[in-house]
Amino acid sequence: MKSRSITVLGATGSIGASTLDLIRRHRDEWRVVALTAHSSAAELAALAREFQAEIVVVSDEAALPALREALAGTTIEAAAGPAALIDAAARGADVTVAAIVGCAGLAPTMAAIEQGGVIALANKEALVSAGDVMTAAVARHGATLLPVDSEHNAIFQCLQGNDIAHVHAITLTASGGPFRDWSLEQLEKATPVEAVKHPNWSMGAKISVDSATMMNKGLEFIEAYHLFPVGVERLRIIVHPQSIVHSMVEYRDGSTLAQLGPSDMRVPIASALAWPARMDTPCAPLDLAAIGQLTFRAPDETRFPATRLARAAVIEGGAAPAVMNAANEIAVAAFLNSQIGFTRIVQSVENVLSLKLAPAPTCLEDVIAVDAEARARAREMMEPVR
Ligand code: NAD
Ligand code: MG
Repeated sequence: MKSRSITVLGATGSIGASTLDLIRRHRDEWRVVALTAHSSAAELAALAREFQAEIVVVSDEAALPALREALAGTTIEAAAGPAALIDAAARGADVTVAAIVGCAGLAPTMAAIEQGGVIALANKEALVSAGDVMTAAVARHGATLLPVDSEHNAIFQCLQGNDIAHVHAITLTASGGPFRDWSLEQLEKATPVEAVKHPNWSMGAKISVDSATMMNKGLEFIEAYHLFPVGVERLRIIVHPQSIVHSMVEYRDGSTLAQLGPSDMRVPIASALAWPARMDTPCAPLDLAAIGQLTFRAPDETRFPATRLARAAVIEGGAAPAVMNAANEIAVAAFLNSQIGFTRIVQSVENVLSLKLAPAPTCLEDVIAVDAEARARAREMMEPVR
């Protein structure tokens, strides 16, 4: 009995693969509507055949001929380009997993929100950029936004059965990334290869660099601000190198609830897919005796200023979070291309933020315009000084 339908936006990525691994293990419970990727046609076609998807979309139009060829002899529809991506998301599914990386995922995620249903959100950049524009659309269309990001999924679970009005503080845990113990001098020389080697999690390149700069925690701070309306002053960050406690909620009576689990994204993805029920996963159970110690320490915003920038951006409000995200996407890409050094990533984000670019976005088109302008300014500022 195929009881629920699912669309995976960003099916060929790290979150997409973890999602489809779970669907594969519960194959007869799910019907796959749409699977999308940027350009990996062969990989996407193989997934489409395996999961008997209705439609597959590559956002890069140049990849369409290869996609069509790889699907020859099937009845699976194939399409390409940004508009086709939005149309596929707008087909609606009981659950849409938003797992595209970056603000590129915003428009299709909004199209899915407009259909109602469950949005399992991994694509934090979309929520950071759109903020109230997205949460208002969720409310207007009666959609359910379930966080897949492990910290936010943990917080969501710790809030179940409680009134958010009794929350004293929400604490996001951070692994601290691969450079947690590096000096500023070492950070200046950090290479892309070193930055994408995360100690605890296996993830796409962009979020791995974000973890290394701690901009990931900055983005997550803003993500939490929108998902859990307790106010900026009640949101905290703590470094927890083992990544076992995924986040915590402290209540007014002094009780702190935490969610613990292995560092495997299939746990929070499964939580979102099955919510409010639970489903089996192949994840290794937590062996706390083997882990032995869970440690915590305050973040160091001198070496890792990204969380300070994010807090300032969310307090400033308006276009600042979208500008911050766009500038970061450009800077991370430049770092991965060896055009700028590691510490220039966050410096350049700060420089673009200081331009005070645009008024507060009030609709999707405004957010997309702010994103485009911030990207253009970030690219200009990235030009080598002659
Ligand atoms: P990834 O790079 O592994 O995969 C990204 C997916 O998006 C791929 O399917 C790719 O084809 C597609 N894509 C890339 N650029 C696109 C574009 N311009 N237009 C349309 N599609 C495009 O990334 P990931 O690690 O799976 O992360 C996906 C999202 O989930 C990110 O927002 C990330 O912050 C978030 N997230 C990831 C993890 C993790 O463990 N990987 C954890 C928490 C949150
Ligand atoms: Mg996270």
